Amino acid sequence: MADRFFVNEMPDFVEETEVAGGESSLENLLSLPYQETAEKLLQAALDISETVVNKTWIDVGSRPKNPDLYTGSLGTAFLLFKKYQVTKDRRDLDLSGDIVKARDSASKGSPFVTFICGRAGVCALGAVLAKQSGDRKLLQHYLSSFKEIKLPTGVPNELLYGRAGYLWACSFLNKHIGEGTIPSTHTGPIVKDVIREGRHLSNKADCPLMYEWYGKKYWGAAHGLAGIMHVLMDMELTPEEQEDVKGSLRYMIHSRFPSGNYPSSVDSDADKLVHWCHGAPGIALTLVKAAQVFGDEQFLRAAVDAAEVVWNRGLLRRVGICHGASGNTYVFLSLYRLTGNAEYLYRAKAFTCFLLDRAQRLIETGEMRGGDHPFSLFEGQGGMAYLFLDMTNPAESRFPAYEI
Ligand SMILES: [Zn+2]
Repeated sequence: MADRFFVNEMPDFVEETEVAGGESSLENLLSLPYQETAEKLLQAALDISETVVNKTWIDVGSRPKNPDLYTGSLGTAFLLFKKYQVTKDRRDLDLSGDIVKARDSASKGSPFVTFICGRAGVCALGAVLAKQSGDRKLLQHYLSSFKEIKLPTGVPNELLYGRAGYLWACSFLNKHIGEGTIPSTHTGPIVKDVIREGRHLSNKADCPLMYEWYGKKYWGAAHGLAGIMHVLMDMELTPEEQEDVKGSLRYMIHSRFPSGNYPSSVDSDADKLVHWCHGAPGIALTLVKAAQVFGDEQFLRAAVDAAEVVWNRGLLRRVGICHGASGNTYVFLSLYRLTGNAEYLYRAKAFTCFLLDRAQRLIETGEMRGGDHPFSLFEGQGGMAYLFLDMTNPAESRFPAYEI
């Protein structure tokens, strides 16, 4: 199994000191005052972002083949929006807007309707960028385009291609443009569909809500229960619907592996994947949210257990956020934001410093895999740059396109 991850040999905690101490460059980084580490991470993020823009936008003549946020040019636009939020450099906002604009008409015929994969991502991000730029006409264009999106018959419920991914785009608009931009009269019927289908497939089994994607009952954030429950918690729910969400999360907690990790689907007994998409990390983010929304200690305890799995087996041999070390780092950031416990900030810093210190070299030697989309947001270095930017202000960090 260790071929999937690096054995985590970093200390459980390192005190920060005025003068960096330690035998290796990584130990030095871990002992620096936080502000100094953050400055190094910001510089690295700026350098990587420049490479990402060159590889995914400039080198392809501003006509990238892949449009979506997951591995395509919209992911670069989302990274630039994050960079703008940190640096306030107007050029990032403008370039991000240019990339979205290039996808606008091309995405009109897309059969996909979510934020991460499809038309909703283009219109929602476009609207938020237009609002930031003070361009009212463009804002209205993107908002009316968003409202024209129709969910096709038979659309699934999961996050990457289904109703949950469309609803997430609605929450994103409400957060950045204003509450009620997409009112609950619009999202309500879609939420009802999600609940109805979940109850139907559950058939009153142990888990109140159940879903399938391509014939499999997935549990993870990308295609399964955890991702759908995460989005539902931002929606207006009746008390019965809230109980169904809680019951589904409790079902997953009771049915997890003895190691504390989670199966990728109902029928899987392979305790292998420790990814955001499948396994403990994505489910931990949902449990942190449940602890926050419902104030239930059981969810917090389960999230803490999942974070332990991530600390031991989550330093993956890939850099991205979907199934890489950068994405797994957000589990510690999420727990830090909820609890204020400095040990979680340290763990986030440890994973991030490992990447800062070693990722480029490990990719060059092949010990870390670059993948098919080495500069993308979800699978590549775009995600690592996003994490580095988030680490400059951990209290405001959010797993991209998942934590609202
Ligand atoms: Zn993945």
